[in-house]
Amino acid sequence: MTPVVRLDGVGRRFGGAKNGVAAVDGLDLTVERGSFTTLLGPSGCGKTTTLRMIAGFIRPTSGRILLEGEDATSTPPERRNIGMVFQSYALFPHMSLTDNVGFGLRARRLPSAEVRRRAGEALELVGLSHAADRKPAELSGGQQQRVALARAVAIEPSVLLLDEPLSNLDARLRVQMRRELLRVQRETGVTAVLVTHDQDEALQLSDTMVILNSGRLEQQGDPRAVFPAPANRFVAEFLGYDNFPDVPGMGPVTIRPEHVVLSAVGTGGGADGAELDGTVTDVTYQGSHCLVGVTAGSDRVTCVHPGDEFRPGDAVRVLLPRHRLVELADGAAPAGA
Ligand code: ATP
Repeated sequence: MTPVVRLDGVGRRFGGAKNGVAAVDGLDLTVERGSFTTLLGPSGCGKTTTLRMIAGFIRPTSGRILLEGEDATSTPPERRNIGMVFQSYALFPHMSLTDNVGFGLRARRLPSAEVRRRAGEALELVGLSHAADRKPAELSGGQQQRVALARAVAIEPSVLLLDEPLSNLDARLRVQMRRELLRVQRETGVTAVLVTHDQDEALQLSDTMVILNSGRLEQQGDPRAVFPAPANRFVAEFLGYDNFPDVPGMGPVTIRPEHVVLSAVGTGGGADGAELDGTVTDVTYQGSHCLVGVTAGSDRVTCVHPGDEFRPGDAVRVLLPRHRLVELADGAAPAGA
């Protein structure tokens, strides 16, 4: 099946060929029909520039963008059949919700009865039928973002582009809205591409997550494949693998803090894995567990420990269970470190 979006060696430089920066550098990417793809990475890695190139607001300086199999590199945004949702909602304050949601349909010169019907359906999809005649200012932030989502899907876009749509919402609402967003995407079957710097959001929503660093692709795939097997140190660190111990006989290795087993020196032993003797340097109480920092030789290891019995200065044994160690293909330090 033809992918809905294909980026073919896409690059974008800002500020001239010599002294400029490559915001995006030789990016290859395919977005399959009906899938949810997230572009994930730290601030400045090129996520928004990539999304804006797919939308047509920014022209690539190299490579090609194909939409529905056709070269769309030079196609203006209004001819791309793209739905967009921004962090700032971008609703028209003087219009009712129905008129906001129907805006793109009127722009496509659909008969007014059909505009009303489809706007009504889209509002129903996001659970706001009862508020159809209200103005955006009469709604909460979460409700306004649902209206923006309804407006974007009402036009039945080829691809729905979401630029950090949940980052203005408080933490609890954000988690609720993630579920809502996923439900709407699944119910409509719309192809979605979301920009986020939040790894939890990417893990929860993505069929495919695309991890970017300094404009380049570091790793992409199903979160269930990427999370347990980060390709390199940048991806590992970004996904919360805080430990990079030196394990004799193994290449660059990493392990998650929650997989490290901590015991007092002289206890435990015999388990399959690497053992390090060290000293507790810091303990952070987190309610359900403690984060314990341990120095062992030149290594620092962070452990999630269920109890609160260790204190700085305690001599401890750190077990890195063999089946939890992840060997990195590339142990290079992240760019800019
Ligand atoms: P954030 O999460 O902070 O929004 P991002 O990953 O979306 O970051 P981009 O906004 O795509 O990153 O920016 C990538 C790089 O390109 C950054 O170094 C940024 O400063 C630069 N950049 C983006 N837009 C422009 C512009 N119009 N002119 C000059 N440089 C730009």
